[in-house]
Amino acid sequence: MQDILNNLPDKASKERKANKKFFAKLRKKSPKNLDLIMQDLHEETFNEINCLECANCCKTTGPLFTGKDVDRIAKFLKMKPKDFENKYLQVDEENDLVLKSLPCSFLAEDNKCLIYEVRPKACAEFPHTDRKKFHQISHLTLKNVAICPAAFEIVEKMKASVKV
Ligand code: SF4
Ligand code: SF4
Repeated sequence: MQDILNNLPDKASKERKANKKFFAKLRKKSPKNLDLIMQDLHEETFNEINCLECANCCKTTGPLFTGKDVDRIAKFLKMKPKDFENKYLQVDEENDLVLKSLPCSFLAEDNKCLIYEVRPKACAEFPHTDRKKFHQISHLTLKNVAICPAAFEIVEKMKASVKV
């Protein structure tokens, strides 16, 4: 897995132009069954990838925390929301609440998430490849393919199977 992760930024960079072109065309005209296609590609790919061998998202990029995330996680940790925020979070340049440091403080040595049951919504949904109207978040996906080997594979399969 480490080799795959080491090579991923280069591979993503080589595909960037083609990916941008592909998503631009998809945004103009997308097949009616795109959500179904994405659901299948997502499931098929995640059946082959073990996130516990990777955890690259938790190590290199953090989620955004919503107010609900903060309240839920603070309650789980038996902390006051403000204390949780002060200890683990900061406000970034876009005014979003994000982790103070990476890798994420809740990532254990064995790559398990210590707050898995209550993890931020953004973590549970990453890399968003099964969301509806996936092609509308291409700006995010173009970044995620350099971080997440599953997202990279899914976009490659998508380019091969979705005619634009
Ligand atoms: S909260 Fe859990 S899933 Fe989210 S980045 Fe941290 S370790 Fe990963
Ligand atoms: S979601 Fe992607 S980056 Fe995160 S652990 Fe799974 S394969 Fe790795």
